[in-house]
Amino acid sequence: MASSHTVLMRLVASAYSIAQKAGTIVRRVIAEGDLGIVEKTCATDLQTKADRLAQMSICSSLARKFPKLTIIGEEDLPFEEVDQELIEDGQWEEILQQPCPSQYSAIKEEDLVVWVDPLDGTKEYTEGLLDNVTVLIGIAYEGKAIAGVINQPYYNYQAGPDAVLGRTIWGVLGLGAFGFQLKEVPAGKHIITTTRSHNNKLVTDCVTAMNPDDVLRVGGAGNKIIQLIEGKASAYVFASPGCKKWDTCAPEVILHAVGGKLTDIHGNALQYNKEVKHMNSAGVLATLRNYDYYASRVPESVKNALVP
Ligand code: AMP
Ligand code: MG
Ligand code: MG
Repeated sequence: MASSHTVLMRLVASAYSIAQKAGTIVRRVIAEGDLGIVEKTCATDLQTKADRLAQMSICSSLARKFPKLTIIGEEDLPFEEVDQELIEDGQWEEILQQPCPSQYSAIKEEDLVVWVDPLDGTKEYTEGLLDNVTVLIGIAYEGKAIAGVINQPYYNYQAGPDAVLGRTIWGVLGLGAFGFQLKEVPAGKHIITTTRSHNNKLVTDCVTAMNPDDVLRVGGAGNKIIQLIEGKASAYVFASPGCKKWDTCAPEVILHAVGGKLTDIHGNALQYNKEVKHMNSAGVLATLRNYDYYASRVPESVKNALVP
C-alpha cells in the first residue's frame, strides 16, 4: 500500500534514523581505537575511517529507499557495494506523525537534493574534542535548504557514565526545529563563535571588528549552530572560504526554523541546487537574533577579499 505520508516527511524520518546510525558508527570507530587518518588537501583537512564508514552508511541507506534523490556527500569515495551491516532502514515515527508544511506536500523525490557531511569537525574528532562532532544531513528544494537533521554522537559525554550519550536535532521550515531547548544569549552580550582549526587574518579581522565580549573557538559548523540555538554564542562568523554546502545545509535549516539567519559574509542567501559549487567562497555569517548588528560590522576590506 502506498504511504500516506509525503516524500519530504518520509525522507526526514528516514534521515533521522540514518543520522543516528551514523552517530553509532562515529562512536564505534573511536572505541575500536584505529582512526585510519588520511590527509585530504592538507594537515587540517582530514578524513578518518569514521568519515568513510558514516558516509557509506548514510548515502547507501538513503539511495536504497529513495533511488531518485540527488545525494552529494563530502567524501570522495569509490562506489562499492556496502556491507549490509551499514544499512539503516528505520524511520522515526514521531516525525511521520507531524504534518508536512503545505508548500512542500507535492514535492517529488527527484526534486530533492541531499547534502551529507558524515562527520563535521573531523580535526577535533582526531584530537578528542568529541562534543564538537556532528553528522549533518541537509535537504534542499529549488536551491533552498528546507529540512535538516543533526546528530551529535557525543552529546553528554562529559556528564558521567550514567548520562545518555548522543542526540538528534531535526527541523523543517514552516514546521519548526526539535530535539533541543531553544535559549538566547543574555541581551546585549556579543559572543562570537568561530573556527578553531581554520583560522586566518581575514577571520580574525572580521571577528575583531564586531567588538565581541567573548570569542569561542570550536570545531564544526553543526556544533557552532548548536551553540547559537542553545544560548552559548550570539553569532557564528567565518570570513573565509573553506566551509562547504554540506557543512551549512542542515544547520541552516535548524537555525532558520527558529527565526535565525545564515548567509555569506555579504548577506547573500546560500544556494543548494545540485549544480552549485560546493565551496561557500564568501564565508558564513549566522545569528539567532540581531543579525543586522553583525552584518553591519563586517569590514569592507573583508568583503572585498571574499568573492561569492
Ligand atoms: P571549522 O569551523 O574550522 O570547524 O570549519 C567548519 C567546516 O568547514 C568543517 O567541516 C571544516 O572542515 C570546513 N573547513 C573550514 N575551513 C576549511 C579549510 N580551510 N579547509 C578544509 N575545510 C575547511
Ligand atoms: Mg564539515
Ligand atoms: Mg566532514
